[in-house]
Amino acid sequence: MNKRTFLKSGVMSFMALGLQRLNAVVSTKNYYNHILAETLSLEEILAQQLAFVLPELGFDFSALEPIIDSKTMQIHHGKHHAAYIKNLNDEVKRLSNTQSLQGILNTVTAKQEVLRNNAGGHYNHSLFWSIIKPASAKTERNAVQEAITIHFGSVEAMTKEFNSAAMGRFGSGWVWLCVDNKGALFITSTPNQDNPLMKKIIKKCGTPIIALDVWEHAYYLNYQNRRKDYVENFWKIVNWDAINELYLKAKK
Ligand code: MN
Repeated sequence: MNKRTFLKSGVMSFMALGLQRLNAVVSTKNYYNHILAETLSLEEILAQQLAFVLPELGFDFSALEPIIDSKTMQIHHGKHHAAYIKNLNDEVKRLSNTQSLQGILNTVTAKQEVLRNNAGGHYNHSLFWSIIKPASAKTERNAVQEAITIHFGSVEAMTKEFNSAAMGRFGSGWVWLCVDNKGALFITSTPNQDNPLMKKIIKKCGTPIIALDVWEHAYYLNYQNRRKDYVENFWKIVNWDAINELYLKAKK
């Protein structure tokens, strides 16, 4: 079996698994609390079609304390993210849209508000969960940190620019470190659940490799109005190994 056949069969079996999951989701009365008992890679999530599912986090709800408290994680993942997925499933069903999540993000327009908000909500949270980890897990300096140093002068200089974009985002939204189509890094911020994959909505598009949720639901229980503290503490729980993997893939 060559690499291509192998990849294809992998996708086919993933889709078959998706159908089993659809049945599992539909038969679950407590839909909002339905969580897959496994984690999925971001690639798998982007390849998903109806029914989109909420994957398990790679860590316990309490694992990010004291930076992010357990209750916030529980509500954020099990209620907010789950609700975006439910609304996304309802909308693609209504539209008979058979695209993957990646396909939806690439083609969604500003006028398709329900699709835009909920496909964005699903992708944004999936990326966010994938690039944070318990603070105790130390990682080595890697290629993305080298690239950041070359582009911004230092990792600290990048986080400073990122944090000021987070503080400058009025109301709800996200901050991103992205790789553009020439492999260069840039920081941007988007309102609501928009993201830099939405080619028909966002001016400066790229592949996000760091995401920070600055909606109040992401921090209010613990930090109340102190967004600055939340934003600064975020860097204590970023998973540089995961970010590096995303960077290397995005650069190809
Ligand atoms: Mn959120």
